[in-house]
Order: sequence, then structure tokens, then C-alpha cells
Amino acid sequence: MNLLEIKELKVDYTTKSGVSGETKLVHAINGINLGVRRGEILAVAGESGCGKSTLAKAIMKLVDIKNGEIIFQGTNSTALNSIKEIRQFYQKVQMVFQNPYSSLNPKMKIGSILKEPLLINKKLSSQEITRIVEEKISQVGLDTSVLDKYPHEFSGGQRQRIAIARALILEPELIIADEPVSALDVSIQAQIINLLKSLKENLGLTFIFISHDLSVIKYISDRIAVMYLGEIVEIGKTSEIFDSPKHPYTQALLSSVPKIGSKTEDTTIQLEGELPSAEKLPSGCKFHTRCPYVMDKCKDKIPEEHEFSLSHRCKCFLYTNENSMI
Ligand code: SF4
Repeated sequence: MNLLEIKELKVDYTTKSGVSGETKLVHAINGINLGVRRGEILAVAGESGCGKSTLAKAIMKLVDIKNGEIIFQGTNSTALNSIKEIRQFYQKVQMVFQNPYSSLNPKMKIGSILKEPLLINKKLSSQEITRIVEEKISQVGLDTSVLDKYPHEFSGGQRQRIAIARALILEPELIIADEPVSALDVSIQAQIINLLKSLKENLGLTFIFISHDLSVIKYISDRIAVMYLGEIVEIGKTSEIFDSPKHPYTQALLSSVPKIGSKTEDTTIQLEGELPSAEKLPSGCKFHTRCPYVMDKCKDKIPEEHEFSLSHRCKCFLYTNENSMI
């Protein structure tokens, strides 16, 4: 059974245009079905604006959903209403944000930042709280001497370790990491990625890892879901997606990943135009305005999902019988 099951999820939100002040409706998530297996790192990949972060916020109950269900451990989290139920949910599902500079309260010492969730959610003795805080800070590779310092005394990588320790403090089952290394120096990124991998292995955690960086995703993830304009267009094991990408959008994304030592000619697939606005979604296949293989039917019909293996699926007309590329 999946730890998390997302069914027919739709999220719209409104924004105000800076110039005219006009209110606009954005269709950020447009019918996502997704299962997250216990103990895996599921990466969600796609360009900026494809809906990755909105998906994270929807799972974390930080945005209202228009339609659908998010079922965590058999319970529909979108139906949780009481403070007690919501607190219990947040004990099991935690988030690590992109920017470790803004996600830690600058006025609190690290020890207080880590103790706070325990004081709010658990009835524990002060000795027990101290023991847990020290355990978590050492699990992220830091010394207990950091507990008496403020966030500004640390580098970006150290702050992200502290943010991860805070996410671990209530012993969650699922952590959603939203671009957790993209604000860090390249030299530090590998350390944080290795830390997340070891936490998954040593603590049996499950991660949803959101990133636009396919090199990082290839290294860390067990499976990859590729998003385009609020839909998952392809999903599969990491090896399936990298060795045999099926959707033209996935192929274009992967073709732009630099290959170390490659002496072959440039095989980057150039996509036409920009990501269309999520205020006015294209009809039919949402990728048709940029797809190098677009056919007439792509412009007004929505492709069904095609299954290549039990784990590998994609939505594209190229794989229906009359256009089969398999
Ligand atoms: Fe391209 Fe058509 Fe496939 Fe969409 S359905 S990705 S437009 S070929």
C-alpha cells in the first residue's frame, strides 16, 4: 500500500497583475494522480512554473484544493479540520524549504528552534527533549555546540542541515523537500544530497524530492514524476526515465543535461517557445504548443496514459496503436 495517494487533484489560485491590479485565475494543478511508496525517494521534475511547489503546498495543506483527495496512511488529509487532527498530520508529514536563510527564525537559538515542535506537540520531560534534540542534530552531522548559537552564525549548508534536523524532530514518515539544494553553493549541494539519502536509508524515511535539476534527481531518486503545466506527463523508475524517456517533454529535459566526458555532437532538443501561462491552458495535450512531434489530434484531444511497464507510464499520442513508436 502507498504511504501517500493523490487522486484527481486540482488546485487553482488567484493572483493580481502588478500593472492593472486585475485578478487572474491560475490553474496550477490539473488532475494529478500519484502514489508515493513507503521508503522511496520520489522526485518531481519540471520547469519553474510547472506546479511542483504548488503540489508540495497542497500535500502540506498550505493551499486550498479545488478538487480531489490526498490520502496519507489511509486518511483523507484534505478532510482534516480539527487542530488536533491537523497537528497529528504535521507530526507525520514535514517539509524542508528551498531557502535555509528564511526558513529559520533569526531571533531564536538553534536549540530553541528544535525544541519548539516537541514542546507544542509532545508531553515530554526536559531531559527527554534535550536527548531528542541532541540526537537529531547529530543525525544531520552537526555538533551539539551549535544548539547555543543563532542561525546567522552558520553557512547556508549548515542552516539547511539545521532545517532538516527540525523536520526530523517529530519523527515524521514523509518529508517533502522543495528544491532543498538549489539555494546552496554547488560544492555544498552534494553533502546535503548525501545526507538526505543516508537519512532515507538509516531511518526508513520517505521523501518527495522536488527539483528542476535533473543531475541531482538522477543521483538521489528511486522514481521520477515529470510535470508539465500541472499534470504528470511521465512517471517511472529513475533508470527507466533516464535510459528510455518516452514523453517528448521528458526527452527535451533530459537532452539538456550535460554529459560529462561526452564527445558526441550536441543532441539538445530545443523546445519551441516559453512555458504557456497557467491562466489560459492549451487545449488537448497541454504540451502541443511546444512539441516537435505535434499532430492535428494533439491540439484538441487529451492523450490517455500508456503503460510501458508496471512502473513506467506516459501520456502521449505517439504511443497509441496508430502512431506507435515502441
Ligand atoms: Fe507531442 Fe502530441 Fe505527444 Fe502531446 S500527445 S507530447 S503534442 S506528440
